[in-house]
Amino acid sequence: MKTAVRLLIGTLFVAGLTCSAFAQALPYPSANVQKTYERLLEEIDKIPMYDNHAHPGYADDSDVDAMASPPDESATLRLRDDNPEFVAGAKALFGYPYDDFKPEHAKWLAEKKAAAEKAGGTAYFDGILDKLNVDICLANRAMMPAYLDRKRFHWVFFGDAFFYPFDNRGETASTPDMGVYVPLQEKMLARWKKQEALEAWPADLAGYVAFVQKTMEDNQKRGGVAIKFEAAYFRSLYFTDPPREKAEAIYSKYHASGTPTAEEYRVFQDYIFRRITDQAGKLGLPMHFHSAVGIGDYFSLHNGNVLNLENVVRDARYKNVTFVLVHGGWPYEREAALLTAVKNVYLDTSFQSEMLYPSQFKLVLKQLLTLFPDKMMYGSDAFPFNDALGAEESMWLAARTTRTGLAAALAELVDEGAFSETKAFELARNYLHDNAAHLYGDLKR
Ligand SMILES: [Zn+2]
Repeated sequence: MKTAVRLLIGTLFVAGLTCSAFAQALPYPSANVQKTYERLLEEIDKIPMYDNHAHPGYADDSDVDAMASPPDESATLRLRDDNPEFVAGAKALFGYPYDDFKPEHAKWLAEKKAAAEKAGGTAYFDGILDKLNVDICLANRAMMPAYLDRKRFHWVFFGDAFFYPFDNRGETASTPDMGVYVPLQEKMLARWKKQEALEAWPADLAGYVAFVQKTMEDNQKRGGVAIKFEAAYFRSLYFTDPPREKAEAIYSKYHASGTPTAEEYRVFQDYIFRRITDQAGKLGLPMHFHSAVGIGDYFSLHNGNVLNLENVVRDARYKNVTFVLVHGGWPYEREAALLTAVKNVYLDTSFQSEMLYPSQFKLVLKQLLTLFPDKMMYGSDAFPFNDALGAEESMWLAARTTRTGLAAALAELVDEGAFSETKAFELARNYLHDNAAHLYGDLKR
């Protein structure tokens, strides 16, 4: 016994000296880190990705979102359409023959896309996924178009419109941005109303709740895999739990006419949100939340802070509801990551993967990989910028940033002695594909 222990200690000692994989992790990677990065990237490039959040579609298709950019859009540096990396994307995807997007050059790209749109069919966007080695892409869209292959593009529909059944003049006038957003919510709600063959709003709150819940059920039957909330653009992500009587009184007073006060509207919305959450649990329909900074001069960082959702995601009544923190809470990405300690809470890194340069995104991933790696998912937030610069190039940028940032994060962790290369591949596969595939039932555990 004694000899065995001594032998074991001796072995560990020798291993500690010669093999960093069994040593204490160090604060600096070894001098081999660049080689490890290259080796890991080669393998990571072979892993098909599952994109948890994108807005695929042609530039003239307004259904790529249920809202639109505000009048004074304030794009951060990397997301401006003069970012030269987009040229690299256009070259990689289409063999774009120019080195800039001067109007006379960008025309080449716009014409290529217009031709694909005119030709119709699903081959064009399937081809983009194939080129980027993306298996499945969740399509956040008002409605799905015929040109997206439903086997590869799964529909995520929007839930915010259910918050706006009354006279919205007060909401619309509250900021110039709301002047753009709210009429689009009214349009979306009118489409749900038409879909459900409703002539007028029901006389009581129970009738309205039934309409909301039925629309969710029908959308799921029509292929919807999740319900998305852009609520952070419109209001606080903090939802109270008002009693039915209070919401009932507000509904009775305003469902036919009259403009509710901001406070009355908030109470009503909080009540509807709770009924949507109940139904999402019943249907097994994950709830997606925009949980990062947003565009425009009036987006409130305070109201949009992911921690506002803590009372909901930690509520024991909602253990059967899956919550997905889309965009991973940035700039509160650590708060978001810590919320994924809750069993039914996930996050994705969409938008961060476009806005942050790989060296910055690497640091985010390094943190996420060492907290709850089984809860993090890839996402692009790909979106068409204009006729020339489409969702395609933005999907390319997110994919390249993610693969390179991930390889770098893992290379450093491996070379610092945190874990083995085998473990690194497992983490990469889970983040890029398997965590999402399990969540949406495309892959059984
Ligand atoms: Zn988005």
